[in-house]
Amino acid sequence: MTVTPQDRNQIQRNWDLVREAVAEAIARSNRLPESVRIVGVTKYVDAETAVALAQAGCMELGENRPQLLWQKADAISSSDPEMDIRWHLIGHLQTNKISRTLAYRPLIHSVDSLRLIQAIEDAVAKHATIQSIDVLLEVNISGDANKTGLSLPSLEGLLTNSTWPHVQVCGLMAMSGLGVSPDEARRQFAAVREYRDALEQRFQIQLPELSMGMSDDFVPAIEEGATLVRIGSKLFQGISHNSH
Ligand SMILES: *Cc1c(COP(=O)(O)O)cnc(C)c1O
Repeated sequence: MTVTPQDRNQIQRNWDLVREAVAEAIARSNRLPESVRIVGVTKYVDAETAVALAQAGCMELGENRPQLLWQKADAISSSDPEMDIRWHLIGHLQTNKISRTLAYRPLIHSVDSLRLIQAIEDAVAKHATIQSIDVLLEVNISGDANKTGLSLPSLEGLLTNSTWPHVQVCGLMAMSGLGVSPDEARRQFAAVREYRDALEQRFQIQLPELSMGMSDDFVPAIEEGATLVRIGSKLFQGISHNSH
């Protein structure tokens, strides 16, 4: 299957609308225009459709499964070697998939255990050409046992023992609870920002990146300080071609 011209137009419209909505939320919160990056989440679509999104202007792409990130990144670079995509891994990373994932130099949003960050450190230390990799710590702000991410005590334990010369912790990633109201999502995002501020003080570190906000709640996330929003369904709505 190929991406139809209609789908291409639809993806361009979706991208333009999301960009506008992001720009408006940035302006409303008196933040700098370049302070928020949009990660287009391509997990719902095939590589060809992901290319159409990049051609529309979205040069940062995210996948939640390592194997699909590898596949899509390979397909895109073989179809268009000039296309300079920045990849984001936004879902769980199994330790046996770390070294292959490193080759794509993604920002890893989903560090959710001490064991994982240590395994990433070891893999980068052994790697021939990569000096350092950027990661975010995924925080379970609600304390909900059903949600993924580090509890606050384990996150603090992890930062207390931090000696990873090859891993740069750049910030936090969080998801609002499933099906919560926009007001509740906003409260959770504000809590993540306040928690980040407290960690910076306590550990005397910089955690500039806040990855929070998806299709349904990126506006309150930006208003509460998100620097990366992870948007999938809103970028692909209305297209006919979305097979995997
Ligand atoms: C799927 C996914 C998204 C995108 O969700 P949409 O609601 O489709 O925008 C964002 N973050 C993570 C971790 C995801 O798995």
